[in-house]
Amino acid sequence: MVQEAKLSAALSEFARTMVTDFPIQAILDHLVERIVDVMPVTGAGVTLISPGLAPRYVAASNDAALRFEQLQTEVGQGPCLVAYETGQAVAVPDVATDERFPRFAPLAADSGLAAAFTFPLRHGDGRLGALDLYRDTPGPLNPRDLAAAQTLADVAAAYLLNAQAREEAREASDGFRRSSLYDSLTGLPNRVLLQQRLEHAALRARRSHAHVGVLFIDLDDFKRVNDTHGHRVGDQLLCAVAQRLSSLSRPGDTLARVYGDEFVFLCEDMRGVADIETLATRVVESFAVPFVVEGAEPKMAVTASVGLAYAGLGEEVSDQLLDNADAAMYQAKRNGRGRHFVLDIREPQQTKEHHPTLAQDLKDAFVHDKLDLVYQPIVRTVDGRVIGVEALLRWIDPARGSIPARTLIDVAERNGFISQIGAWVLERACSDRAGWPRPHPDTPLDVSVNVSAQQLMGRDFSGTVAAILDRTAMDPAALVLEMTEGIFIDDAGRAITVLADLKELGVRLALDDFGTGYSSLSYLRQFPVDIIKIDQGFTADIGRELFGTVIIGAVTNLAHVLGLSVTAEGVETAEQREAITAIGCENAQGFFFGQPMSNDEFTAQLAAQRAPTRFQRQMSTLPITLHRSAGISNG
Ligand code: C2E
Ligand code: MG
Ligand code: MG
Repeated sequence: MVQEAKLSAALSEFARTMVTDFPIQAILDHLVERIVDVMPVTGAGVTLISPGLAPRYVAASNDAALRFEQLQTEVGQGPCLVAYETGQAVAVPDVATDERFPRFAPLAADSGLAAAFTFPLRHGDGRLGALDLYRDTPGPLNPRDLAAAQTLADVAAAYLLNAQAREEAREASDGFRRSSLYDSLTGLPNRVLLQQRLEHAALRARRSHAHVGVLFIDLDDFKRVNDTHGHRVGDQLLCAVAQRLSSLSRPGDTLARVYGDEFVFLCEDMRGVADIETLATRVVESFAVPFVVEGAEPKMAVTASVGLAYAGLGEEVSDQLLDNADAAMYQAKRNGRGRHFVLDIREPQQTKEHHPTLAQDLKDAFVHDKLDLVYQPIVRTVDGRVIGVEALLRWIDPARGSIPARTLIDVAERNGFISQIGAWVLERACSDRAGWPRPHPDTPLDVSVNVSAQQLMGRDFSGTVAAILDRTAMDPAALVLEMTEGIFIDDAGRAITVLADLKELGVRLALDDFGTGYSSLSYLRQFPVDIIKIDQGFTADIGRELFGTVIIGAVTNLAHVLGLSVTAEGVETAEQREAITAIGCENAQGFFFGQPMSNDEFTAQLAAQRAPTRFQRQMSTLPITLHRSAGISNG
């Protein structure tokens, strides 16, 4: 029974990961390892066979398995080859007494192989190779195990075909895409590809902490070059300019030639407006050295005008950025050529003062206790019951109005007071929880608090958490700390130590916005995370993108394999709720269940749910949804 459950888990695991883009080798390695877990065998291997070519061993669970695979090729005989040739499974329950493989059997027995079972990797009427199972003791496999092994072989074959098809499709489209996305003169991305990258940047900026900048570069008097020296020289100059600009670009930047003598830099990972201004200055300065162009002696001196537009944290990234950079470039030309000009759509001419004053005001608000927290319910998908809340920071600036939480966090991080604000959020959330009624004492009521990377890595973070738990008499098991993958990037070693200290306190850890950053599954194995929060961007794809649910399904499935629970963020519609419930996400959060609300509102809502009557208990499998609260808007 246990065996069967394990087997079916392994099967569904593979079936689900099939549609994802995991490297085929990793999947096959994992497959042979898992087979040894779930079947009564000691080794497993996969061999691919193509007519006229030597067999290729693509995966083996251990050295012994690899040796057996090789042995069959060396002697040109063995159960794997028969399974491949006949398309039928071959069982050799006792190698020592089997007479079908006179050359293979004695050598295999000498190396410790007692029984072998091989299964063809079927593909229509043909075969791709075989899945081989080995055992170090003789004896048959029961019919159920034989059938299960053939199913695994079929799954492996489907994988291989799928990977092959993907590979072929990619190769076929690459040639076409290169020609339609790149400029044939300079080899740089063209306007179409730039547009795609900009759309991508817009998505990323919405989900991550990215500042996006655009530089629009236009050569001064290029028309005169063409008129005086001819188009061939003009073309060569453009190539030389492209090369020089390329040398300024950093990994992740896109440099495109959009038209004639117009180039655009798209920079997605700027730390702030100062970074992009530095790049603009370097671009202008790079034109100080004349260009070597064949047919135009001596070297050619050219200047360029550069316009700059920038979107800070939480600000909309769109085509508008390109238009603004273009407009700024014209302003630069009007100011005299060979210069750059910044067009800042937020506060013209005040770019530099913008953040410091906001920082000062935020600090004052903090000191005068003007910051606030709101709570957004997190519900259990099986019965729709609220099992916790996420605390979210709010500040309404009397002059600027409500400022997005991400901007507040960013400003506090840059100006060195994130740890104080973060500690205040934590303490406030823990003490608020102490005042909440518990209409369903058996249902958890967790508090999730976001922790920024800088705060987590700051001085004695775990000591601060311990002190707050103590002061507020908070149950550590009811506290979830949410962090993003960013913490693993800078100093993974230190992150591991801090997380271990936090686990020691008994709190749980959630990986927030999963899927927006590096999303390496290796982090999940390496770090003691308990919960994955799937980013709202993926939830939004449900019913909109072909693979919307598939991706959430695959992530959820893998999280479950690793023993983690999954919360889907940003659930806004009944369709999304149904999809994530069907997939098996344990918990969900989003406007569909409830907007972030004040502590008073949340307390009142809990109080309104009196202890259930017997009838209500019977009905408790029906979903209870919280009503949207009118007062506080998101962000
Ligand atoms: P997060 O941790 O992923 O929080 C969820 C965000 O999604 C919140 O935005 C929430 O209002 C919003 N949201 C919830 N449900 C839905 C929905 O159905 N649809 C849509 N479109 N959005 C939904 P908010 O409050 O603006 O916070 C943004 C981010 O700021 C948070 O993302 C978190 O990373 C950060 N943040 C907020 N408060 C704090 C804090 O106290 N400390 C730290 N370090 N970061 C915080
Ligand atoms: Mg969060
Ligand atoms: Mg999130």
